[in-house]
Amino acid sequence: MASNETVTIAGGGLAGSEAAWQLASRGVRVRLFEMRPDKKSPAHRTGDLAELVCSNSLGADRPTSPAGILKEELRRLDSLTMRCAAQARIPAGGALAVDGRICSGLVTDAVTRSPGIELIRQETLAIPAGPAIIAAGPLMSGGIAEGIRDIVGESCLSFFDAAAPIVALDSVDINRAYRAGRYGQCDDYINCPLDREQYEAFQRELASAERALQHGGGVADGNRKPRYFEGCLPIEVMAERGQDTLRYGPMRPVGLPDPSTGKTPYAVVQLRRDNAEGTLYNMVGFQTNLKWPEQERVFRMIPALENAEFVRKGVMHENAFVCAPRVLDRFMRPRRGDAAVRSDLFLAGQITGVEGYVESVASGLAVALNMSALLAGRPMPEWPPETAIGSLLRYISTAEPKSFQPMNVNLGIFPPLDGQKTKKTPGHKKLSKQDRSLLFAERSQAALEKFLEQYKI
Ligand SMILES: Cc1cc2nc3c(=O)[nH]c(=O)nc-3n(C[C@H](O)[C@H](O)[C@H](O)COP(=O)(O)OP(=O)(O)OC[C@H]3O[C@@H](n4cnc5c(N)ncnc54)[C@H](O)[C@@H]3O)c2cc1C
Repeated sequence: MASNETVTIAGGGLAGSEAAWQLASRGVRVRLFEMRPDKKSPAHRTGDLAELVCSNSLGADRPTSPAGILKEELRRLDSLTMRCAAQARIPAGGALAVDGRICSGLVTDAVTRSPGIELIRQETLAIPAGPAIIAAGPLMSGGIAEGIRDIVGESCLSFFDAAAPIVALDSVDINRAYRAGRYGQCDDYINCPLDREQYEAFQRELASAERALQHGGGVADGNRKPRYFEGCLPIEVMAERGQDTLRYGPMRPVGLPDPSTGKTPYAVVQLRRDNAEGTLYNMVGFQTNLKWPEQERVFRMIPALENAEFVRKGVMHENAFVCAPRVLDRFMRPRRGDAAVRSDLFLAGQITGVEGYVESVASGLAVALNMSALLAGRPMPEWPPETAIGSLLRYISTAEPKSFQPMNVNLGIFPPLDGQKTKKTPGHKKLSKQDRSLLFAERSQAALEKFLEQYKI
């Protein structure tokens, strides 16, 4: 049963749009505030809801991979974002890649048309009164950031995150590249090979190239040493860590032999399709904070990109999140001590310390279910940790606060499998990684079904 109260959501990004949709589909009225297009963020480019600010990949989609398990759970819960992603999907091997403009356009249409949602194109300047979800994202605007800081104290942390450049396909020298997916899984990627000499010259230039000023006044290579998210290091930072770091990272050639010679190159830069027309390609793993002319100079050392047109340069931004294990309860409400500051105020999305598009969607969905239960006077759902959503929520509310960093979904945050099940009999040989992943996936499905039944979701 829905309450008569209207929920205010600040931020129509990945988490806020999903939360609005989930609430409206449960009969809860929503006022969704989105500051764009009038007020811009440093990374968003459009006025669309649920814009993907960088890569167009939503990560692995194999149902047994951790990211795939999370997606299956979201689909089972009728996630709007997953529905739109399916319609906007473009080929990318085992990954779920989308045309970002189409995907966010579909989300925007669905939210705009929903009779239960009033979309207000206005910046939220303070923490709203009444039931509210703050989903203003890692680049939230000033007023709301102050409001959160007032509530949670000085535990609003930040680190630096970067986006990768996009090149126009017709400017890529396809004669010096080849199409293939790793281990022959698909041919959706364009691979730009480098021989040893080319790679070593590239690595040297990249490591010493000039970096850009930070938004917010800091200097990346100056006095203020930026804290990077280790899962999304700028390519130049990887280059300076060692001569071979890139060859074991984003420029890894293994499983990518050139079909014309059968030989594996010394290093490879992969390009992944970025739009439905296939005219734009994203440089995979090449998030960067180099000055724009430096990006052109250094990236054009990659033979196939000698004349590349960079339609979007890489950029770097400050990225804010709260120290969730210290300041949020397990339902994602700001707390002081053990008590929620306000029973009807929730945070959702990347500011809670989940990392990534799909994780942010999951956070928005979970918080919407919490809010909907609260307003209906029912107990808020306790997510089973065996599910990907449950394990993420559990991780961010119970991790070690001192070293807390935003977290992607991964098998390490799931509870371990029952010891007996992971051994093959007779002889107690360990199961293969694939068989283990299958057990995780099956366990998550079973736990989710039980959970849905228990809470009548
Ligand atoms: C530069 C950069 C690159 C990234 N690249 C990737 C990537 O490649 N892959 C990946 O998985 N994740 C990436 N991320 C992480 C990404 O931000 C999150 O995965 C995801 O967008 C977070 O979802 P969200 O809903 O929390 O925030 P967002 O999607 O950012 O949504 C927040 C929304 O709130 C709005 N807003 C902010 N303040 C206010 C206010 N006061 N009033 C009203 N509206 C407001 C914003 O305009 C925005 O629409 C990147 C992040 C950054 C900053």
